Amino acid sequence: MSMLESYLAGDWRAGTGKGVAVADAVTGETVTRVSGEGLDLAAAVAYARRTGLAELGELTFPQRAAALKAAALALQERRQELYDLSARAGATRRDAAVDVDGGIGTALVYVGLARKGLPDHTLIVEDDPVPLGKGGTFAGRHVLTTPRGLSLQINAYNFPVWGMLEKLAPAFLAGLPTIVKPATPTAYIAAHAVRIIADLLPPGALQLVAGGVPGLLDLLGGQDHIGFTGSADTAARLRSDPAVTRRSARFNAEADSLNCSVLGPDAVPGEPEFDLFADALVTEMTVKAGQKCTAIRRAFVPANLLDAVGEAVEARLARVVVGAPGADGVTMGALVGLAQREDVRAAVARLARAGSVIYGDPDKVEVVGADAERGAFVSPLLLRADDPARPEPHEVEAFGPVSTLMPYRDAAEVNELIARGEGSLAGSVVSYDPGFVRRVVLGAAAHHGRLLVLDRDSAAESTGHGTPMPQLVHGGPGRAGGGQEEGGLRAVHAHLQRTAIQGSLATLDSIIN
Ligand code: NAP
Repeated sequence: MSMLESYLAGDWRAGTGKGVAVADAVTGETVTRVSGEGLDLAAAVAYARRTGLAELGELTFPQRAAALKAAALALQERRQELYDLSARAGATRRDAAVDVDGGIGTALVYVGLARKGLPDHTLIVEDDPVPLGKGGTFAGRHVLTTPRGLSLQINAYNFPVWGMLEKLAPAFLAGLPTIVKPATPTAYIAAHAVRIIADLLPPGALQLVAGGVPGLLDLLGGQDHIGFTGSADTAARLRSDPAVTRRSARFNAEADSLNCSVLGPDAVPGEPEFDLFADALVTEMTVKAGQKCTAIRRAFVPANLLDAVGEAVEARLARVVVGAPGADGVTMGALVGLAQREDVRAAVARLARAGSVIYGDPDKVEVVGADAERGAFVSPLLLRADDPARPEPHEVEAFGPVSTLMPYRDAAEVNELIARGEGSLAGSVVSYDPGFVRRVVLGAAAHHGRLLVLDRDSAAESTGHGTPMPQLVHGGPGRAGGGQEEGGLRAVHAHLQRTAIQGSLATLDSIIN
């Protein structure tokens, strides 16, 4: 089986050694091997800093937006190839659309925002002159310029295309060359996307390393940016690297989180919000087989509705068909691999100490179009924990189609329970009672990067609990990594250096024009 090639210094080249075999999530066959051994990462860093930075520096913001648009349109044109590869990672057509179309859409939103909101220039002046002296001859202004470094983007396995594009777009617009390090299990999908767009971007603007990156952080410092998405453990390891702690490379982390959804006491069976809550929970459990950083792990419902909600969700889960992507009637695909299935089973065993599994069997699932054991299939698993004070549901992330129902008494209690997740990417409140919504949103805001209020008025247009929008921030405090990505042009600004420049008005004028 051939080795997956990396795209470094303008060439595709394979690592040496045996590498790691990446298996097809559905059949277990080897798709490719991945090795970073023998790759000259120092040359890649030098190429980014010399060639990439210079090439991007020649382009104004609108010119960069035009190049990004061409890349996004090329991906759109060839997205079927990415869907086909995604199926090998267990993704159904719906899952692949979230990753591939979601990524393309995100890049295009950045293109639009850049065209409207960034100047025809290579720097941004943030404010009008701030007078600093009584005579009016001395003033200051804030200017954003491109750092003389690169953006290293380390991505999680679950969104090989979206994860890459949502980081690449703002870095590229900011004029920073990118080195992407995709996660090994789905690196072949990210690499294919890079093959499609590499020639449409300026030389050095985008490189990709498949495999490990030992020593790479030793080459980074204060002009560089590291964008990480993945587990809290890896985030902690990278955050404590001297590149960050001593040399102050900018570091942004998006880590795992125990996101919640809250059903309001008003949303009894028969009210539209009751069904919206159950539908959203099942969607979040089953899209990408629950391998979504924003998926609902903790579902809080009024104590008197616990049985009714359990039944409603079970009835919906019973309609889920697990199997090979593309096979007849399949609505949920596989986990990315057998090791991930073992992780999910182990996490569910820990979660079950707090209650019981009320839907699904962690060890058994009926599968359409594939072998249930060779493929990384698992049933959707709904747990119920009658004592929400137990630690497990607030601490254990099962990164699969798994969620735990828990009761609460009132808004004050649910806010305390929400806080026990210690920081989340996304939360939702499903209720038509403005007083309850206000209490929960204001109580939960400090613990979240994004909060969705879902009700009958907005449901038809709502983008849903689990979908980060490029116009809005994505990231969360505490356990969720403490970082923020996206948020429209904020993400571009975050890649730039803000410098206060002081001088006479004429001097300031001559510098910025
Ligand atoms: P992971 O094991 O932490 O890996 C994430 C990335 O870090 C991979 O590219 C991995 O490469 C790389 N990596 C690991 N050790 C490294 C090191 N010492 N130096 C440099 N890179 C290193 O996470 P994962 O299993 O891919 O993803 C699942 C987790 O990500 C879940 O916990 C999920 O909640 C979280 N997640 C969060 C978000 C978010 O936006 N907050 C989004 C998606 C997923 P290899 O694969 O080659 O080891």
